Amino acid sequence: MIPYGKQDITQQDIESVVEVLKSDFLTQGPQVPKFEAAINKIVDVNYTVAVNSATSALHIACLALGVGKGDLVWTSPISFVASANCALYCGADVDFVDIDPSTYNLSAEELENKLIYAKSKKLRLPKVVIPVHLCGQSCDMEKIYSLSKEYGFAIVEDASHAIGGSYKGSPVGNCKYSDITVFSFHPVKIITTAEGGVATTNSLELAEKMRLLRSHGVTRDASLFEGDSCGEWYYEQVALGFNYRMTELQAALGISQLVRLQQFVKKRNELASRYDEMLRGLPVRIPYQLPELVSSRHLYVILLDMEGDVTKAEIFSALRQGGIGVNLHYIPIHTQPYYRKLGFDGQSFPVAEGYYSQALSIPLYPSMTEEDQLNVVRQLKIALAS
Ligand SMILES: *Cc1c(COP(=O)(O)O)cnc(C)c1O
Repeated sequence: MIPYGKQDITQQDIESVVEVLKSDFLTQGPQVPKFEAAINKIVDVNYTVAVNSATSALHIACLALGVGKGDLVWTSPISFVASANCALYCGADVDFVDIDPSTYNLSAEELENKLIYAKSKKLRLPKVVIPVHLCGQSCDMEKIYSLSKEYGFAIVEDASHAIGGSYKGSPVGNCKYSDITVFSFHPVKIITTAEGGVATTNSLELAEKMRLLRSHGVTRDASLFEGDSCGEWYYEQVALGFNYRMTELQAALGISQLVRLQQFVKKRNELASRYDEMLRGLPVRIPYQLPELVSSRHLYVILLDMEGDVTKAEIFSALRQGGIGVNLHYIPIHTQPYYRKLGFDGQSFPVAEGYYSQALSIPLYPSMTEEDQLNVVRQLKIALAS
């Protein structure tokens, strides 16, 4: 089976992890700060807070921005469920903004329309908007940022797919157009720490809040104490935090992987361009790329042209049987049973629902060969013709 995504691990990666295993610290040692400093440098941002997953990063990002009961968070319906769940963890409510028909990202136009409507009807406005850079292609951040100034919401970029990409000349994650950016290092993503994620920000205040929240809300930093220190053993719990810490093993793997980040993104772009060529003439829509950005190309999503009798389920199943690990990113969040129970009717975001009926992710990962790609396309042709 050719998988839809796969990590790329070298001997150097393995040795970095083994070295940590032989060292004094498996957690809370020097590797995590070193990894954070490396991310700061690569994405050109002031602060990075490493945690045990992007899901945790999204949670503490929302908390640091003050999201709580009675607040509203908006995100894209075409994302992994974690992009919306983070708001529910904080006791807030979630709503969605339909996607752009060409990039499949949260549509900045739809966002504006929804804001205008909410304001005119005196409905609640969002406290935080979470644009998701689907497949590694940045959302229209300039427009979303200007709307945030007009309507007073904060922005958390869910860039789980997008490390190594850039938008209008600046690296995704530098928070030029947002308060916080989140990256995931799950094995299928661009680089991996097994499980793991980070939140980046230029705000010292937000960084300190997130550091506190990732480790029980407990601090040994005297400047954050509410009481007086009674001795060198003294620590205080000043917030209700969690154990969301990244381990030293994960950070060491991340540091080693980061060295190859640009190489991964370059390779993914080459593979994607080759797919563009190979798929020409087939009844599928290839991913549209905006000229003003560099996508990290996490996923290659095609839309099937569903005329004729073959259904998407049949094509999907034929490809899987042919050894092609196709996948689906994503089932619209608002159609999930859990979200239906919250009141979503499953048909309020027509562009997202239309996308879902046609979308299919075909394999893409750095160690893929031209032969693998030819195989994918060959099987796809067979499936489409059957
Ligand atoms: C993978 C992913 C997440 C969750 O990342 P984890 O590190 O697995 O918690 C969140 N949002 C998006 C868009 C993702 O693809």
